Formats: sequence, structure tokens, C-alpha cells
Amino acid sequence: MSRARLIVMNSALGPLDYRVPQGMTVEPGSVVVAPLGPRQLVGVVWEPERLPAEEVGDNRLRNLIHVYDLPPIAAPLRRLVEWTADYYLAPLASVLRMALPSTGALEGARSITEYRATGHVPERLTPQRAQALERIGERQGLVSELAIIGGVSDGVIRGLVKAGAIEAIEVTIDDPFPVPDPDHDPPALEPAQADAAATLRDAVEARAFAPWLLDGVTGSGKTEVYFEAIAEAIRSDRQALVLLPEIALTEPFLKRFAARFGCDPVPWHSGLRQSQRRRAWRAIASGEARVVVGARSSLFLPYRDLGLIVVDEAHEASFKQEDGVQYHARDVAVMRAKLEEIPIVLASATPAIESRYMAEIGTYGEIKLPDRFGGARMPDMAALDMLQDPPPRGRWLAPALVQALEENLEAGEQSLLFLNRRGYAPLTLCRHCGYRFQCPNCTAWMVEHRFTRRLACHHCGHVMPAPHACPECKEEDSLVACGPGVERIADEVAALFPTARTAIVTSDTIWSPAKAAEFVARMEAGEIDIVIGTQLVTKGYHFPNLTLVGVVDADLGLSGGDLRAAERSFQQIRQVSGRAGRGDKHGRVLVQTHDPSARVIQALVSGDIEGFYEAETEARREAAMPPFGRLAAIIVSSEDQAEATETARVIGRAAPRHDNMAVFGPAPAPLAMLRGRHRLRLLVHANRAVPIQDIIRDWLGALQWPRGVRVSVDVDPYSFL
Ligand code: ADP
Ligand code: ZN
Repeated sequence: MSRARLIVMNSALGPLDYRVPQGMTVEPGSVVVAPLGPRQLVGVVWEPERLPAEEVGDNRLRNLIHVYDLPPIAAPLRRLVEWTADYYLAPLASVLRMALPSTGALEGARSITEYRATGHVPERLTPQRAQALERIGERQGLVSELAIIGGVSDGVIRGLVKAGAIEAIEVTIDDPFPVPDPDHDPPALEPAQADAAATLRDAVEARAFAPWLLDGVTGSGKTEVYFEAIAEAIRSDRQALVLLPEIALTEPFLKRFAARFGCDPVPWHSGLRQSQRRRAWRAIASGEARVVVGARSSLFLPYRDLGLIVVDEAHEASFKQEDGVQYHARDVAVMRAKLEEIPIVLASATPAIESRYMAEIGTYGEIKLPDRFGGARMPDMAALDMLQDPPPRGRWLAPALVQALEENLEAGEQSLLFLNRRGYAPLTLCRHCGYRFQCPNCTAWMVEHRFTRRLACHHCGHVMPAPHACPECKEEDSLVACGPGVERIADEVAALFPTARTAIVTSDTIWSPAKAAEFVARMEAGEIDIVIGTQLVTKGYHFPNLTLVGVVDADLGLSGGDLRAAERSFQQIRQVSGRAGRGDKHGRVLVQTHDPSARVIQALVSGDIEGFYEAETEARREAAMPPFGRLAAIIVSSEDQAEATETARVIGRAAPRHDNMAVFGPAPAPLAMLRGRHRLRLLVHANRAVPIQDIIRDWLGALQWPRGVRVSVDVDPYSFL
């Protein structure tokens, strides 16, 4: 091959052709460096016939500069990149970037210089230096990483290096990862588990595409079962990937994995240091990383020989990426399995309607684990009618729930209060003039965070110090907090039970795998009596002494009115209920609601899961909503409201007419302003057979809009804000 066509790592550029100089060999998938103007860019060689581009004469081609000494990106992954870009209407380069690491990891360096504190206190200890040293503690990393941890500039860290308070150390990054031992400590499976495990083991052995829905109640042993499939992949010298919805779940998973297989798997998430990322990426590409556990982004890594994918908590909406390439990791994972010709397991106690439907029509195989392991029973559930038996004014916990908490405390058992709202109060207003604190950048109220004494916007991160006076009428001490967040519930618990030991679990308190590990250890050691948490506590954890779950506001998720509101509430409450009574003690769940007759609440309390799913599925079928129909959202945004509105109108007017397709809008989005941008939405609703990507591509491709306007397409949207 004397010329090569590349996808270069710049989403604004199309495919580019280069000359392959004498003595250099490349093939599709090779990772190379190419000149672009005065700069150099990383690119990947692609099959030219799959990437139409303007033909450039041989004499105008520039030479490739370098080929990395790495295995080429394999054909199945190249096809996955194409499929993802095509399906989600994203630039190829943006998708391909997820498969590649930083340029540092492309180089075959064996070691990297990191820094850590020496314990020596510098003579000149400025407040900044003190802060940096305190926050860094025992951690190590690049200068830039330590600067971020310490909340200071790189210069401060370098100053500390000069002063001897921080030292450089060489870290080897090609240390091999240990190989998990499939026979380290296998459990004795119960008959239903053993059947399920055998099915999955066979699937791994068969080396063919096979999607499986592993549908088992919380605590039924789904993890133990798919561990057997992983063991099989290890035995046959292949790799396995486990996708988890939150990095907070990684740590408990690592522990369980290590207990079963004798060593940790290779983690992949945004919390890794650069040296860890480099090491993991290279080991994944070489095949030496045998089992990888990761967040969404681990899906696009260049596994050398993938034998199995597991998507745990597969119903979770957080598998949908909402910025950049807006892909759904569960759906792309199924496509990857198909292209790699391997089995994939979607594990969930509350499968998505989409997944259940695929099982119903036979596209996915279904494995059910209807009972909890070891004879543990599902917890008893009861609804507490907040109109019949309301809490005292200014409080949020109904008398029956308070009494249950008290009984649990006396019995020395742990309780969990679930409220999916961070902070102290979702709205602050002035009693005197009615002023409400709104984010200046978003259509959203500022949420009070009492611990940090700030008001914060949960959409854009804007923060302000908690005020004493109303900015409008200047009245002092006139501000009142409206409604509860977890911090306020924690206050209420502290007032009711002054001696109870409590913990708040939200993304504010559990922001790293290490924090999650700390929480798990404290729970296991019995150092916490009552946990107050957001959806972060609803999944994955297994605490045998946790026997009471209180759902503070079961109606909260139902107000949104999007197509999955009922399903999502149902899943969330089922999941959090699943935390109760997982050991030999029986659990109970109390659900506070203003509408005990709502279908979701009825289904939860009566345990009529099938009935609920059937009714929801039927409603979707009637409305031709997913999975029976297709949706795509087009979001138009700009800092200039008139420009956004005008562009949205132009797009709306140009909407193509097709049978079995309707376009709604444009209308201002519920979040009409986000991060300072005005937003409008259009919604495309079509029959499954309509190729909406092609239609949208042609439709938008023929239009132009001002530079400041952004038009993004969200295929299969999960957020309707
Ligand atoms: P799920 O993933 O379905 O919620 P888990 O796999 O977490 O269920 O199992 C629940 C608990 O029961 C875990 O502590 C697990 O180790 C234990 N368990 C499940 N099956 C077995 C088994 N066959 N032998 C021993 N322990 C088991
Ligand atoms: Zn905001």
C-alpha cells in the first residue's frame, strides 16, 4: 500500500489521504502520526472503500510520519466505530477517540515520573503549600494531577519539589497484571444458579454472538452466576469486560471479584491516574488485561481477544451518555458483541422494558433467577399515605417510618432512607418578598448545600455563598428553605435520634472509588446506623444487617412526565428495596407517598411485577413509543435567544414528510436555558422501519445556521429536559 486513508483525531476534518513512505508498512487499523499544516496529528488507517473522500493526486500527498508499535485497531472495533458514528449521527473521529488513549500511552514508554509527598515540611509554608500538602496526603501522580488534587497551580507543586517536600519517583507502567484464577474460590451454586451458569458457560465456549438477559431479583446471585461465565472466558484465554453504571460501584465489585478470583480485575474509569490509564490501555490492547471492569468508556477499548461482555445493572439510565457522542452503552455493547461474535449478558433485577421486549420476541435469550440466595425472602413492602398519616409540620418522615427507625435502632440493625435529591433544600425563597434563587445560567433553582454553606446549580455547577439577606428586598433572615434534600433528612434524623450514627451517601460525599470503599467498610463494621442517600445507594451494595428501607418521597420521580417516568420510579424503588434484608434477617420497606393508588405504588406493594410491566409495555405499544417506535430529539441551542429560536424554526419548517413519521416542535425545552444557552427541542417520532438517521442527516445537512448555534441530535433519547 503506497497510500493510506486516515481518520484523524479532529472531528472537524473528514478522511485524509497520505503517502506511506518507503520502509513503512501500515494496514487498516494502524495507529499513525500524520502532518497537518505545521502540526502533527494522530490518525488511524482505514479501508479507503469504506470512507469516501475526495481523491487527491499522488503528487499532492504528504508522507506519514510515524507508525506506532501497537496492534492495529481490529476490524470488529473499526466496524463498531462506524456503526456508532452512523447510528448516533456523530463524527467518526469523536467515536474513534474513545478507543485511543492519550498520545503518551501510544509511546512504548516503560516508566513515567510521578510525584509524592516526602513528609518533609518546607521552611516557607505558605497557605497554598499547606493546603496542597494536606490534600495530597499519601497520593501520588503527575505534577498536573497533584495540582488538581491540591487545588493549586502546577507552579506550587514544582515549588514543593524544589523545597524537598515532594519527590519524584519512577513508576514502571508495563508491570504485568496478575491473571485471575478461575478456580480460586468458586461458590457452591444452588440448582437454579448452576443451570444459569451452565447456560452462560456454554455460550462463552460457543464463541458466537448470543445476547442474554439475566433477570433475577436483587440478591439472587446474578453476580455469582456471571462470574462463572467470566471464569470460562479466562480458562479459554480470552478477555472479559464488565460494564458498571457508576464508578462508585467499582470498589465493592473489585473486592468481590478478588475474593472469587484471587486478584483484582483491571479497572477503567475517569478516576484513574494517567500512569494507570496507560498501563491499563496497553494491557487491554496486548490481551494481558484479562478481565476489565469499567464505566461506559471501556466499551470502545481495543481488546485483543474479547470473549464476553457483561452489562451489570443493565437497566440503568446512566449508561446513556448525555454529552459528546450521545450513545447508549448498553445498546452499543450488544452491537460490539455482535461484531466480535461473542455472548453478552445484560444483568438486572428490573430490566428495561426494551430489554424485556427483546427477550419476549426471542431476540435475547432469557435466564431467570426468581428467588433470593440462601432462602432470604424479599422484604415486605408497605405504602405510607402521607395525607392520612402526615409528619408534623416542617418534617418529612411519617410517624410510622419514625417508629420503624426506632425499632431498628433498638434491634441494632441498619436502616436506609432514600431520597433522590442532593443537598439540603431544592429551593430557597424570601418569606418577605417571594424572591426565589434561580441559577443565572439555567432554568433551575439553586439548591442549598448546608454543609458547604453554598447554593449550587445541579445543572451547570454554578455556586454562590449561602446568603443572609434577600438580594431583592434586602430583608435579613427572611430566607426559607423549601422541601427536603438528603441533608435536611439527616438533620431530622439527628433531631429524632441524637445518638444514632448517620451517613449521607450522594455524589457529594462519595466522589471516588476510595470514598465508596470507606463507606462500605464503615457499614460492614457496623459503624453506621442510618444511611441517608440518593440513587447512589440503590444498587450493588450488599449489607446483611440492613433491614429497613424508607423511601422518603416515592412520588418524586413521577412528576417529570417523560415516557419512562413510571418505569424508572418502579426500578429505583425496587432496587433500593432490594438493599433490605439481604442476609438472614428479614427486611421491610416503607414507601411514603401522597397517592397510594398510583399504579407504580400498587405494583410495588402488591409485588405484581409482571402486571406492572405488562401495563407499561401495552401503553408504549399503543402510543408507538420505544421499543415499538423510535424517537430522536433535535436540540438547538445558542447564547443568543433570537438566533436559537430562528434556527429551530428553520429546521422545523424544513422537516421532511414521510409516512409513519411525525415531527413535533420546535418548542422551548423544559430546561429552556442551560449553561447560559437558550434551548429549543424538536422531537422526531417514527415507525421502527423508518431510517430516521438517514432522514435527519439529509434534512440537517441541507441547512445552515449561524456559528454560535449548536444543533445536536439525540437518537433514542432518555432525557427529555
Ligand atoms: P445479585 O447480583 O443478584 O443482587 P449477588 O450475586 O450479589 O446477587 O448475591 C447476593 C449475595 O448472596 C452475595 O453476598 C453473594 O455472595 C451471595 N451468594 C449468592 N449465591 C451464592 C452461592 N451460591 N454461594 C454463596 N454465596 C452466594
Ligand atoms: Zn445552572
